[in-house]
Amino acid sequence: MKELTHYINGEHVKGTSGRFADVMNPATGEVQAKCPLATKEEMDKAVAFAAAAQPKWAATNPQRRARVLMKLVDLINRDMDKLAEALSSEHGKTLPDAAGDVQRGLEVVEYCIGAPQLLKGEFTDSAGPGIDMYSMRQALGVCAGITPFNFPAMIPMWMFAPAIACGNAFILKPSERAPSVPFMLAELAAEAGLPKGILQVVNGDKEAVDAILYDDTIQSVGFVGSTPIAEYIYGTGCAQGKRVQCFGGAKNHMIIMPDADLDQAADALIGAGYGAAGERCMAISVAVPVGQETADRLIEKLIPRVEALKVGPYTSGKDVDYGPVVTAAAKANIERLVQTGIDQGAKLVVDGRGFKLQGYEEGFFVGPHLFDHATKDMDIYKQEIFGPVLTCVRAETYEEALKLAMDHEYGNGTAIYTRDGDAARDFANRVNVGMVGINVPIPVPLAYHTFGGWKKSAFGDLNQHGPDSFKFYTRTKTVTSRWPSGIKEGGEFSIPVME
Ligand code: NAD
Repeated sequence: MKELTHYINGEHVKGTSGRFADVMNPATGEVQAKCPLATKEEMDKAVAFAAAAQPKWAATNPQRRARVLMKLVDLINRDMDKLAEALSSEHGKTLPDAAGDVQRGLEVVEYCIGAPQLLKGEFTDSAGPGIDMYSMRQALGVCAGITPFNFPAMIPMWMFAPAIACGNAFILKPSERAPSVPFMLAELAAEAGLPKGILQVVNGDKEAVDAILYDDTIQSVGFVGSTPIAEYIYGTGCAQGKRVQCFGGAKNHMIIMPDADLDQAADALIGAGYGAAGERCMAISVAVPVGQETADRLIEKLIPRVEALKVGPYTSGKDVDYGPVVTAAAKANIERLVQTGIDQGAKLVVDGRGFKLQGYEEGFFVGPHLFDHATKDMDIYKQEIFGPVLTCVRAETYEEALKLAMDHEYGNGTAIYTRDGDAARDFANRVNVGMVGINVPIPVPLAYHTFGGWKKSAFGDLNQHGPDSFKFYTRTKTVTSRWPSGIKEGGEFSIPVME
């Protein structure tokens, strides 16, 4: 059995706790590796290396730091196939989707190459008589990030790229369910010239997370994962005086107006609802057609599309639309929620239960499900299912559809399909959700904008990547300076010298 390691101070370091998490091959249901779960002492060691290395890195001029990131971009492109393959084998998503996961993170690294420009301060000449005032953005010191299983490449890069571009040292605690790609990225950063101790990977579970939260040296904590853990980390980290940003779960609604192109809307729902087996925080899990006729026509278009979805292992290449879910527990939770949907009276119009794939009977495959006539009091509507289950909640009017999205506790992403610019504009302005798509089903902002939800989908006030990340990973220092006036008059005939 392959035993994974931590990546501490540029070395592969074996775990010492004797505790491990199983890393599964979700397609076969087999354990493919053991991931060590760090103790507080192991985390403390990484923090000490980070603290020792960080001042020199912060004092390295931003252009030189950016050059390391330029090289990292080249190396990630060089190893794209290898990274995608490792990602698919632990997560289960298809190879093109895994390459997309790497690519979206890579774009954040590209954005961070602009660090010299992004870190420029502010200056006011003559703020008072003989007084100048300037602000500079300085690195925080040692930062940490805790990431989820579902984007093992993109989300670590959301965090470590801006953190190190700003001159910080970064400790990554990736998901113990998909730990290999974060590790490979840290190795590539070292190959790109990043000094030892500036990017380390410490694997673990709650014990490692608590070691981060209660460590006095670590200045900031970034988290992406489920809402209960986001709330815990935000509350605990803030109480310890740290800068914290936490991103949580989602239940993204797509509103389909009567004037929408329904073929386009149905295609969008298939990709956004079932891609990556629904294991995306920006997946569309709720379709809200407006008007009974729109709903009937949409369901009619969705059923054959959902029934035609091809489910299989990533090794089957492009013939597969989505792969297995990540663990047996994830599969059992999806099946449990589907049963609540049936019990609570929703109509299961495509029944993916009992799905089996020949040769992969032990894999965590879940067939595609489509619910119609769900209502807002049902568990399948209230809870994040994180599986290939699309739930249709019918609304009579646009206002009712908007209210559904507004009243839901999550506010990560949402979309509207319409040909009416006025409806689209009204929706974008009024909806209390962080990321909005207009005829775009998964409106994940590009690296130079920022990513973040509202309500129970995010805690903290700065978003991921884009300009916000340079604010999150630096603190502002403002200097007010006045120099006593010297003698400026009268001729000087000898060469001026410093006295
Ligand atoms: P998770 O909350 O189970 O785990 C996330 C991280 O927290 C992992 O590193 C894990 O080791 C750690 N963790 C787990 N239990 C912990 C505990 N009790 N104490 C401390 N740390 C703990 O989430 P997941 O299953 O890996 O990811 C799926 C979730 O992430 C979904 O809810 C999804 O919506 C969300 N997500 C959100 C975003 C976003 O940007 N809002 C992006 C991706 C995923």
